[in-house]
Amino acid sequence: MRVLVANRGEIALRIIRACHEEGLEAVAVYSDADRLSPHVRAADLALPLGPAAPSASYLRIDRLLDAARQSGATAIHPGYGFLAERAAFATAVEQAGLVFVGPPASAIQAMGDKTEARQRMQAAGVPIVPGLTVPVAEAAAARRHAAELGYPVLVKAAAGGGGKGMRLVVEPAELDMALAAARSEAEKAFGDSSVYLEKYLERPRHVEIQVLADHQRIVHLGERECSIQRRHQKLVEEAPSRAVTPLLRERMGQAAVQAAAAVGYRSAGTCEFLVTQDGRFYFLEMNTRIQVEHPVTEMVTGVDLVREQLRIARGLPMRVPQGPLVPRGWALECRITSEDPANGFLPAAGRIQYLQVPTGPGVRWDGGIEAGQEIALHYDSLLGKVIVWAPDRAAAIDRMRRALRELIIAGVATNQGFHLRLLDDPDFQAAEIDSQFLERRADLLAPPPAAPVREVLAVVAALVEEEYRQARRPQIAADGSPTGWTRAARAEGLR
Ligand code: ADP
Repeated sequence: MRVLVANRGEIALRIIRACHEEGLEAVAVYSDADRLSPHVRAADLALPLGPAAPSASYLRIDRLLDAARQSGATAIHPGYGFLAERAAFATAVEQAGLVFVGPPASAIQAMGDKTEARQRMQAAGVPIVPGLTVPVAEAAAARRHAAELGYPVLVKAAAGGGGKGMRLVVEPAELDMALAAARSEAEKAFGDSSVYLEKYLERPRHVEIQVLADHQRIVHLGERECSIQRRHQKLVEEAPSRAVTPLLRERMGQAAVQAAAAVGYRSAGTCEFLVTQDGRFYFLEMNTRIQVEHPVTEMVTGVDLVREQLRIARGLPMRVPQGPLVPRGWALECRITSEDPANGFLPAAGRIQYLQVPTGPGVRWDGGIEAGQEIALHYDSLLGKVIVWAPDRAAAIDRMRRALRELIIAGVATNQGFHLRLLDDPDFQAAEIDSQFLERRADLLAPPPAAPVREVLAVVAALVEEEYRQARRPQIAADGSPTGWTRAARAEGLR
């Protein structure tokens, strides 16, 4: 099987690596902006898609299918984002006689509309967050439903994703405005303005269950906790969760398996739940794809989720441990994004002048960047993920702290400093977290006046800039070896 990877960045590299470990060939595709990106060189073959804008490249179904034909690929892995959760893409891939490395189009469709998914889950006996299961047509009806549910309520886009089209409504007077705002945001983001209402839960934890399904059976691989979010976007994930007992894991796991079964699921997928302070859990949505935070599950279960996706796509049985799931040790993931905490977390652009990725015991770097690379604003701001494993949560935090201190990304602003502040926080260390934690903790989001990390980066950046200038005029020492002054100078700068 030759697999075309319809994505870019860290997830494209991740999938290409899995292909190679499975003994499969990988075909990369790239936009003009990504011509020199690491995922292109990692693949066995690479084909251009078009201009940098996603709508002209990574979202072009016709070009992707052409690339598959030209390269002789027999399967397409969509990664996450872009076309991963477009049922129409899965259908087009299958109609072209190719294998879609993911669930059937019908399962994507069923879970893609939140109101439809909520109806299905209710029918399957999976508890859903209290609220509507059909879109709300007009403001008067919305007012009635909101009063019944009790404020605060959340207005949510039926087609929602990435926190878009979501509005918190604390009191009745705000409802009309919130409806209009959510509708227009949803229309812009998804081309669908349908919205519905959910009860807004106070301080829930975001706990999700990884499921894996082959042609024979569906299993769950335990939970990930993703409560550390900014504006409903995950920043830090861990497995297992402090809030989950073995009994709760089994109950939530069963609910997730039921949810997957209800839509005829296959491949890797994730059922997201909110867990309230009193230990109740409610289905939020199912993501019908591999997720950004999948590595933490891999670290504590020993299952390579992407390799299993590839096996399942080939009709092979999945390889998962037998017996009840007992997660081993603790894994943490920090998402490193080119978002500048000093500038309201706005995506930053720039050229990566120097990159040092963390290594050593228990550390994994899933990245898609390298020194010299231009970070533009066309794509998601995720640069890479630092994932650590350790025997317990406290040791995982210590290890992550060490790993983040090793990580140096010079030339573009990142959220690295935020992660270091979070890891030092006593509440985070005590796992006293919930999905509204960062809303209360502006102090963690905002950088302190003079962040020492930044000073080091500035020194390194200046040195590396110099190295690049030198590199354009290759210099060879008298003995024929490349000159090595920069490394020494950098060490000097770090002292
Ligand atoms: P999206 O699909 O846009 O990511 P989700 O429904 O998955 O939206 O929710 C994203 C996040 O928003 C959750 O992890 C949680 O933090 C918050 N959230 C969603 N629904 C609720 C709710 N009913 N009550 C409280 N918080 C919620």
